[in-house]
Amino acid sequence: MNNSITYTSELKVKYDVDVFVAGGGPAGIAAAVIAARSGRSVYIAEGTGAFGGAATTMLVPAFMQFGNGVDFLAAGIGKEVRDYLSNNVPENFRGYCPDGIPLETLKLCYDKMICDSGAKFSFFTNIIDTVVSDGHIDYVICASKGSNFAVKAKIYIDCTGDGDLSALAGAEFEKGDPLTGEMMAATLCGLWAGIDWTRVSGNDARELERAFKDGVFTNIDRHLSGMWRISKYTGGSNAGHIYDIDGTDADSLTRGMIEGRRQLLEYRRYYRDYLTGFEDMDLAATGFSIGIRETRRILGDYILNIDDFNSRASFLDEIGRYSYPVDIHAGKNTDEGYKKFLSEHNNLRYKRGESYGIPYRSLTVRGFDNLLVAGRCISTDRYMQSSVRVMPGCYITGQAAGAAAAICSAQANPNIRNIDVHELQKILVGFGAFLPNFEK
Ligand SMILES: Cc1cc2nc3c(=O)[nH]c(=O)nc-3n(C[C@H](O)[C@H](O)[C@H](O)COP(=O)(O)OP(=O)(O)OC[C@H]3O[C@@H](n4cnc5c(N)ncnc54)[C@H](O)[C@@H]3O)c2cc1C
Repeated sequence: MNNSITYTSELKVKYDVDVFVAGGGPAGIAAAVIAARSGRSVYIAEGTGAFGGAATTMLVPAFMQFGNGVDFLAAGIGKEVRDYLSNNVPENFRGYCPDGIPLETLKLCYDKMICDSGAKFSFFTNIIDTVVSDGHIDYVICASKGSNFAVKAKIYIDCTGDGDLSALAGAEFEKGDPLTGEMMAATLCGLWAGIDWTRVSGNDARELERAFKDGVFTNIDRHLSGMWRISKYTGGSNAGHIYDIDGTDADSLTRGMIEGRRQLLEYRRYYRDYLTGFEDMDLAATGFSIGIRETRRILGDYILNIDDFNSRASFLDEIGRYSYPVDIHAGKNTDEGYKKFLSEHNNLRYKRGESYGIPYRSLTVRGFDNLLVAGRCISTDRYMQSSVRVMPGCYITGQAAGAAAAICSAQANPNIRNIDVHELQKILVGFGAFLPNFEK
């Protein structure tokens, strides 16, 4: 029997647009909405049944910081989302955790933003291939329920988190630790009901040592991010680590799902039996997908790096500024790994009012003239990926990629490098972005 086949197929070009966006997480939403609001024709393909990415499909329970205590850094789309959530969450959700995510309200928010923008979109549509000639993407191939089809666009934006589109097109990338290839551990997040938050006292890890002695856990894992309050009686967990998972490999993800569901039963026991307020808590749902913190970093014209973090860098082609600390979860379950995480997370962080710049060149994919990247997989070193990967950071890079794609796709010969950066910054400021170094 042959163990490989060659297969050819004629595909319909279903969309011919100015801008194609791959993936509808925070970066993809921001990119598509800004490009469409700029008057360009946009099509966004999302593999699951909802926009939102990790927050909605992996049940990530909270937003990390939108600002630095002085400035609202994720201004523009990030602020719009936050305002929508504050104004539209059900009564029962109000006033609890300002950054806990009311899941269904967030889905509605993204549905409305995309529908209002005029962008075309489809769910259950995966990007599975590309047709490339000389560093130029001619078509993207999508597999959807019912049909496979091609999409033609002037500019393509990779917002898949994993850099799938760029990798399929043959772009260069790094993955995990440059020396060992180790990637941050994954976590299956959960949604929990029946919590008496009036009796919850904080520091979820405080009884871990006792629970370890009692044999509650199979793995001795001291890094417990914890439970976020989402509404009056519900919470979202970011608890447990699943090691050696590669988020770009279905077999590995499959193993992670099985292990994650098993682990959450141990956390159920821990919270109910060891912490006050959780005695009647039960698991309402686990994520559609295991939570992946790290896979590919697509190489762009500039690699944002730890020196830029330390120097609070500014760039002439700055498209935004952000401030979240370095947050590299260990890739192996060792005391040494946890200590390294703690040391970096506690020391590589900013004071109030500080931030680092993000240059446009960290979104322009090396070797391609019509491919941009935004979100978790932009061009950074591992330290900076662990900072800029959180959702507010992804709004910042997503909206910049959308604005840049809008400018470039209007050119006679669209090229992501033929761009007046000052014009890009002006447009971003018009959409509300925080660009303090921009001079009119
Ligand atoms: C366990 C965990 C906890 C976290 N905690 C926080 C937190 O507390 N606060 C915070 O702000 N951030 C947190 N993060 C980080 C943050 O959620 C993600 O890094 C962020 O959502 C990345 O945004 P993105 O738009 O780049 O990608 P994603 O959110 O991953 O969105 C990518 C989208 O593209 C789609 N997609 C992927 N590949 C394809 C394909 N081939 N075809 C079609 N569609 C595709 C996916 O379905 C998804 O909807 C956490 C992440 C994890 C995993």
